[in-house]
Amino acid sequence: MLFHSTRDPSLTATLSEALQRGLAPDGGLYVPAGLPAMTPADFDGLGGIAGVAPRFLAPFFAGDPLEPELAAIVTEAFNFPVPTVRLKTADDVSVLELFHGPTSAFKDFGARFLAACMGRLTRGSPRTLTILVATSGDTGGAVAAAFHGRPGIEVVVLYPRGLVSPRQELQLTCWGGNVRSLSVDGTFDDCQRLVKAAFADPLLAARRELSSANSINVGRLLPQACYYVHASLEGFRRTGRKVNFIVPSGNLGNVLACVWARRVGLPIGELLLTFNANRTVPDYLASGEWQPRASVATLASAMDVGNPSNMERLRHLHPDWAELAGAVSAVSVSDEQIRRRIQRDDSVLGQVWCPHTATAAEAYAHLSPQRRAAGPWVLVATAHPAKFPETVEPLIGRVVPVPAALARLLELPRQVTEVPATLEALASVLR
Ligand SMILES: *Cc1c(COP(=O)(O)O)cnc(C)c1O
Repeated sequence: MLFHSTRDPSLTATLSEALQRGLAPDGGLYVPAGLPAMTPADFDGLGGIAGVAPRFLAPFFAGDPLEPELAAIVTEAFNFPVPTVRLKTADDVSVLELFHGPTSAFKDFGARFLAACMGRLTRGSPRTLTILVATSGDTGGAVAAAFHGRPGIEVVVLYPRGLVSPRQELQLTCWGGNVRSLSVDGTFDDCQRLVKAAFADPLLAARRELSSANSINVGRLLPQACYYVHASLEGFRRTGRKVNFIVPSGNLGNVLACVWARRVGLPIGELLLTFNANRTVPDYLASGEWQPRASVATLASAMDVGNPSNMERLRHLHPDWAELAGAVSAVSVSDEQIRRRIQRDDSVLGQVWCPHTATAAEAYAHLSPQRRAAGPWVLVATAHPAKFPETVEPLIGRVVPVPAALARLLELPRQVTEVPATLEALASVLR
């Protein structure tokens, strides 16, 4: 299959090229030239994410140099559990726990998959590949973890100083070796702008082989689609009905993967996107006017995005506003609602949410009884609550146990460079 730029269908790339370039040469984002058509029956006899992923991904890898490696890439990347856990309520609602990877957030799926692909593509290459990644908190840690120690690849992580949680920051700065962590004096949008500017800079591009690992890289979206394939088939086989998802959203990479899986033909029904106080998308769906703005800091910091990159892909798939507004719905959840939801679901359901997942739980709680009964519903749990103890622990009144993998990372020493939010500063680090 070929991929092409959202801005110009004549700018095509193979999967390998799209993975390595990140962004298309005209600044657009790579999208599949045509989505394949599949039905649930195509997955008969297959179960678990590692079971369904090779079948789902096969058409996207067809004809690419990576095609013979697909099975090995899936096995290497998806080496941790992806449980769906029923909530203790009368309705059919479960939690898709995407936080059992090495850095306890869903970003591990994309990062590990991309690393498995890139590791194979750069094998034997004389030039070092530099991966630039702007992070609002979780991407950078996942990418650093996935690429740390890989020969021929170095990683530069940019994160907004003071706007990530202390444990996220430890995960961003504990690596050393082939990973460099830059604490940027600015917001996530500044970090993202710097990465885009670096790609557009001919001098830098001549000196360095640059690639990106942000959710703009198509190599992160494809693996994310796999957990929607897995979870929707599980619910469909159990109930005979399409599965509705509630997805905590920021840059829209997670939900875009779900939109693609639905378009391919997986049994996915409603898609409800939840946002924090950064309400660019809910406002757009309500008004039809696209008004990106500066991000504001919230408790769900990994969703603090004012100008979500993947909107370009979503609008490419649904150019008509009314059609898009029919395809997905969106709500915005305040910090106060996040706090109350964490407290309430802990005491009533015995369920501890991270601040991001709490936005999905809050949206679910506000569905009408009829909509709730039209399940199965799946709340997408994007991070483990132990990543955000300063928010969660005072609300529930006890300590959240830290998963073993995360605990190991938190012990390592910090290595970080502070930089202003300018291209010159980034360029001098890259020199
Ligand atoms: C990145 C992230 C999100 C937002 O996902 P997008 O793909 O950017 O929409 C939500 N929750 C957590 C915990 C995240 O790390």
